[in-house]
Amino acid sequence: MAHDNKKDDLLRWAVSNRETLKKHILFATGTTGTLLEKELEIPVIKFLSGPLGGDQQIGAGIAEGKIDMLFFFWDPMEAQPHDPDVKALLRVAATWDIPVACDRATADFIFTSPYMNKEYISLIDEYKSYTNRKI
Ligand code: PGA
Repeated sequence: MAHDNKKDDLLRWAVSNRETLKKHILFATGTTGTLLEKELEIPVIKFLSGPLGGDQQIGAGIAEGKIDMLFFFWDPMEAQPHDPDVKALLRVAATWDIPVACDRATADFIFTSPYMNKEYISLIDEYKSYTNRKI
């Protein structure tokens, strides 16, 4: 997913990584997903547009364990109407210890990581102690 001023960056990155991307199930916010699908000619599961709730849907996918990596090129130069959703999404991603790329450099580092081709065991405990805490 990408904010409007960052969509070109994300699309260019995605095109140069098409072969790797095609091995994965891709989820995206509405507008980004439509552009990606057209550009890459590979299927993308599209949520609502970000400002209409799509960021929160991506966050729910992370919390449910369906999304295990986030490429979110957000715009550092412009406030967004859904800034609270952006913050919530980044928080959920950190909560569930998934890799997050907010720019092309980080996306490149993630895609060239040896973990792209082997299992990564996260050290989070799935919050069992939190869920089972006494209240
Ligand atoms: P969009 O949403 O892909 O629908 O533009 C991205 C966002 O702004 O979060």
